Amino acid sequence: ITLMAPKLLSSSNFKSLFDSVDTFLFDCDGVIWKGDTLIDGVSQTLDLLRSKGKNIVFVTNNSMKSRRQYAEKFQSLGLTSVTQDEIFSSSFSAAMYLKANNFPKDKKVYVIGGEGILEELQLAGFTGLGGPEDGEKRAQWKSNCLFEHDKTVGAVVVGLDPNINYYKLQYGTLCVRENPGCLFIATNRDAVGHMTDLQEWPGAGCMVAAMCGSTEREPVVVGKPATFMMDYLIQKFGTETSRMCMVGDRLDTDVLFGQNAGCKTLLVLSGCTSESNLLDESNKIEPDYYTSMVSDITKLMDS
Ligand code: PLP
Ligand code: CA
Repeated sequence: ITLMAPKLLSSSNFKSLFDSVDTFLFDCDGVIWKGDTLIDGVSQTLDLLRSKGKNIVFVTNNSMKSRRQYAEKFQSLGLTSVTQDEIFSSSFSAAMYLKANNFPKDKKVYVIGGEGILEELQLAGFTGLGGPEDGEKRAQWKSNCLFEHDKTVGAVVVGLDPNINYYKLQYGTLCVRENPGCLFIATNRDAVGHMTDLQEWPGAGCMVAAMCGSTEREPVVVGKPATFMMDYLIQKFGTETSRMCMVGDRLDTDVLFGQNAGCKTLLVLSGCTSESNLLDESNKIEPDYYTSMVSDITKLMDS
């Protein structure tokens, strides 16, 4: 096999990419914003793409917020043209996965994760248990104590939970190991994420790994790079994946997500991947194009 080296986006190759794409899928952290700070020039580029008739979709692996909460974040950052219908978070994806698999409404979903997952479950008509407030409780492991869990839990959803504790792990583990047919769903397995503007912290991957260890099971992943969210997007927008371009900052989630579906891929260097990471010979995931940041699109359009 011959590998195509990723091309630096330039005035000579930009037009063919632009003309061959109807829908731009944008990862959020490291592309649109860093933590809670908007990346320079994003607003103008989104306006430009809209004015040229391109569809815009946002796909984030961060499950802490619901789509409604993300819409508020876009508004508060001044990206006022963005609507909730354009936003796809791994919290929403978890709820859509249950729906797509006809998860029974009389069964419950135990959540190790943030408020965003509970809100999306509720909006989809499911009953969530657990979530952030479970952090107040503590597991009891005295010799005469029997830990009780709800036998009607039919799925455990694990995402980033800054208040993860031994109680939650015991609860989720009992559900997966003892409730017949209980699903084990991970919103995403990112190693790290921008919990603050300046610093990455451990991501959902370590919480998912804790549950893998205790359950001896592998989860179904509903975030990037798994194909579930893409299948959902294709169904919703009816666009051919060859006319989509996935724009992201992470090789093993964003670029792989786009490649798995046959999309074009554009890596931006404004997030967690540097040019030397990309071009290092140990890297096996090669985007079609790369550029320093999203606002380069505006510059190349003008050139
Ligand atoms: N997970 C967590 C907890 C994060 O904080 C982040 C980024 O902030 C991500 C995942 C990755 O999000 P995205 O897919 O938007 O880059
Ligand atoms: Ca990202």
